[in-house]
Amino acid sequence: MTALANKHHAVNLSQGFPDFDVDPELVELVNQQMRQGHNQYAPMPGLLSLRGLISEKTQSLHQSYYSPETEITITAGATQAIYTAIAASIKPNDEAIIFEPAYDSYAPVVKAFGGLVKPYEMAPPFYDIDWNMVKRLVTANTKLIIINSPQNPCGRILKEEDIKQLKIITENTDILIISDEVYEHLIYDKQTHLSLARYPELKMRTFITASFGKLFHCTGWKVGYCLAPEMLMKEFRKLHQFMVFSVNTPMQFAIEAYLNNKPTYLELNEFFQRKRNLFRKLLEPSRFTLLRCEGTYFQNVSYERIAADNDVEMATKLVTDYKVACIPNSSFYTRNTDFRTLRFCFAKKDETLEKAAELLLKV
Ligand code: PMP
Ligand code: GLN
Repeated sequence: MTALANKHHAVNLSQGFPDFDVDPELVELVNQQMRQGHNQYAPMPGLLSLRGLISEKTQSLHQSYYSPETEITITAGATQAIYTAIAASIKPNDEAIIFEPAYDSYAPVVKAFGGLVKPYEMAPPFYDIDWNMVKRLVTANTKLIIINSPQNPCGRILKEEDIKQLKIITENTDILIISDEVYEHLIYDKQTHLSLARYPELKMRTFITASFGKLFHCTGWKVGYCLAPEMLMKEFRKLHQFMVFSVNTPMQFAIEAYLNNKPTYLELNEFFQRKRNLFRKLLEPSRFTLLRCEGTYFQNVSYERIAADNDVEMATKLVTDYKVACIPNSSFYTRNTDFRTLRFCFAKKDETLEKAAELLLKV
């Protein structure tokens, strides 16, 4: 869709990335680190000092300790953390339960390692989970449950009841969990991010994945990390070592220095909540129906009142005829289920959102 947006000179609200710049101070820190000669391999699991800061962050936000030495690994974005965690967990014929609409990297990796994807399809408008139905997906072969809160693309967040059900489902089993928490700081209306790090019964079986791309508006840097108990992290690192060996050094030093200066991520909720509210307000007079957005930088809309087209046709029409690009949500379902909804990314300058809304009001 980004390629199509460029081709049609459309406002691009499709792929999730900010169109505003990184803090110049952070860019300067990268330059400084390079000038100071931090240009050779970092240690395999990442800079110990950066891992130390991540450990402190997790302790202070979730009262949960991960050892910098043995339980934290810096990765080439959350994407590599997810890939490696799945690769470490899945062998042929293992089953993985995925809550859809889901970020598109989970299912292909499960399949690449011979696993079977068992999707649980959530539906608009509320994307509720019926845990009795989830329980029916669990078999003796279930090896992995992948969750993502706040969830891309539907903006849903896990609540205490979901956590309780996850505990019940996994109790006395060998099921592992990947908890993709890249949007941990993009959560709105004073709600709390319930990291699985908070729950010892779940933490012991969970890989948590996170991304500095989301924290500091630098998705192109591809630096993230994985948290897991030592026993799981040992397996993770066996693969990490031969997949990337280590992650780019000056970025790690710069992120460490930046984290030491000012943890700006604590203001992200407010920053993006304002953008969410602005985008929703701008679209209020439109014919689209705005769905709930509790977190992430994605706003989902239903266009059922406007057209009978399938969502790919609708998204194509929007980019070619109205010059606004979005993502059709069927691409986030293994079975390409189409609920006639579209995803718009609001991690954009106010002018970009205003321009997009102006065009969308014509639909
Ligand atoms: N998980 C989710 C849910 C995402 O939306 C993204 C980013 N687009 C990632 C993982 C990947 O993060 P990174 O860019 O750090 O690889
Ligand atoms: N996560 C971002 C999105 O959902 C972009 C990542 C990608 O394009 N692979 O749009």
